[in-house]
Amino acid sequence: MSEHYDIIIIGTGAGGGTLLNRLAPSGKKVLVLERGPFLPREKDNWNYHGSFKYYSSEVMFNKDGGEIRPGFSYFVGGNTKVYGAALFRLREKDFESFRHCDGISPEWPIKYPDWEDYYTQAEELYQVHGKAGEDPTEPWRTRDYPHPPISHEPRIKEVFEILKARGMKPYPAPMGVHLNEAAMHLSPCIRCDTCDGYPCLVHAKSDSEISAVRPVMHKPNVTLVTEARVLRLHTSASGREVTGVVAEVRGEQTVFSAGMVVVSCGAVNSSALLLRSANDKHPRGLANNSSGLVGRNLMKHVLGSLVGVSTLKANPSKFQKTMAINDFYWGEPGYEFPMGNIQLMGKTVIEGLRGHEDKYAPLSIEEVAKNSIDWWLTTEDLPDPKNQVRVEGDQRIVVDYTENNGEPFDRLTERWKGILKEIGCGCHIVPQANYFTPKSGYFTTRMPMHSLGHQVGTCKFGEDPKSSVLDLTCRAHDVDNLYVVDGSFFVSSGAVNPTLTIIANALRVGDHLLRRLGARSTAPERSEAMRQDLKRDLVFKMAATR
Ligand SMILES: Cc1cc2nc3c(=O)[nH]c(=O)nc-3n(C[C@H](O)[C@H](O)[C@H](O)COP(=O)(O)OP(=O)(O)OC[C@H]3O[C@@H](n4cnc5c(N)ncnc54)[C@H](O)[C@@H]3O)c2cc1C
Ligand code: SF4
Repeated sequence: MSEHYDIIIIGTGAGGGTLLNRLAPSGKKVLVLERGPFLPREKDNWNYHGSFKYYSSEVMFNKDGGEIRPGFSYFVGGNTKVYGAALFRLREKDFESFRHCDGISPEWPIKYPDWEDYYTQAEELYQVHGKAGEDPTEPWRTRDYPHPPISHEPRIKEVFEILKARGMKPYPAPMGVHLNEAAMHLSPCIRCDTCDGYPCLVHAKSDSEISAVRPVMHKPNVTLVTEARVLRLHTSASGREVTGVVAEVRGEQTVFSAGMVVVSCGAVNSSALLLRSANDKHPRGLANNSSGLVGRNLMKHVLGSLVGVSTLKANPSKFQKTMAINDFYWGEPGYEFPMGNIQLMGKTVIEGLRGHEDKYAPLSIEEVAKNSIDWWLTTEDLPDPKNQVRVEGDQRIVVDYTENNGEPFDRLTERWKGILKEIGCGCHIVPQANYFTPKSGYFTTRMPMHSLGHQVGTCKFGEDPKSSVLDLTCRAHDVDNLYVVDGSFFVSSGAVNPTLTIIANALRVGDHLLRRLGARSTAPERSEAMRQDLKRDLVFKMAATR
């Protein structure tokens, strides 16, 4: 057994990395166990094929025993190393119960006003660029974005203006990059075409390694152990406390201990770790006695891309991901159910098309790469206890997931295809090499089941131990010193990318942990200043229009 810590954090993604950032200044002894190494800085970071190696080749299984390759990114920073850095707040009504095509999206136990301050802090920490007041579905905010919106490249600006002229409400996508357009010679970010789905070679993307872990990892009270894969958690005889964290550190098993243990492995791996940690007192998996919900209610969004190729106009954009559209988020006239979000994604590059010429005929791949504008569509999937992560034996992870709420996604797709055609951007709609798992070689418009990049919901939080795994502070109802801080706590998935909410929650839980540890909050002055500002500042009210 190694030395004892105040707190152990397992995983350094959006949840774990941000939590570390919040706890480290307190001086409390924090041990961080991260399965992966630091992602190497090398030319392959920005090479289409070279970048595939940053996605794990590990195999999981679907309910029929078929292989799925989720392609998770196991490095310091987790999946944020390759993410697209679009950092959206959930809408105010996403926290309420709302009827969807396939059922009810349930109410969250804490509502938007409880999140607003933490969203503001999250946007500051991850340096989000955006513009308040442009998106009619955007929730109210006490402050504008900390950084100005990213400018559109000319072809995207043209499309933006065309959509506006049609009466639509496109708006600047909220993006976490370290960009200084006023003085590009000083800007860490160079607006390149290898951002979404790639690691950033120049460390200018707001991933959790760069924004959260690196700023604090050299503090004397922080110990970061990389290539330390946690295998299981041990509890006391009563089962009420975690007493040991068993990890394989570069091939050798070591047991670590701490007053408190935080699991932040991502929704699939966190629930798998808890299920693997079953013992006499927790026969169905750790923290799973009261609710039986560990691993259940997995959500991952209904996702797809629409690559629209114009035969009329080229799109030489490099950093394309600057626009989002929520005109259909809550539905449309004649359709009462929410449909979802549309946003631009990374630009299709010719390297991704070579060898697949037949899929694009009669277009040439040069024409596709030159003229495409690439869109990403997201519809909310609904929590269903039957959609679950299971473990079989010690290693095998089964992701038993059946998609729901597909009709509004299809409707959104058809609506957007129609608009793209009308505005000359959709002369051809072509498939896209699978964005979340590039190794699959799967070409599609709708993302297949193994696209787990937006994994959330396997340990939902709530007040009732019978219907939730975690309490409102993300502590396991059944285990006094065990927390889960990543995408697992989500009650519903909304239809915007999940990471800003994961970050905001990590800051929120961090403040709770600091109080529990008897430490001073690391951001009290800032929060107090914000509260003062709240009184002074104009409160931007952009309540949802529907
Ligand atoms: C290609 C791609 C693009 C995306 N784009 C966006 C976007 O634009 N906007 C957005 O909001 N979201 C995006 N996402 C989703 C985003 O990456 C996730 O929402 C986010 O990273 C989840 O944070 P997390 O803390 O829950 O888990 P993760 O970030 O996955 O972190 C989990 C961490 O735990 C570690 N770990 C796992 N198991 C163990 C173990 N047993 N022992 C020790 N460590 C372990 C992992 O290595 C990792 O560091 C994208 C995802 C992908 C794949
Ligand atoms: S666009 Fe900016 S943040 Fe993204 S990879 Fe390029 S330099 Fe890095």
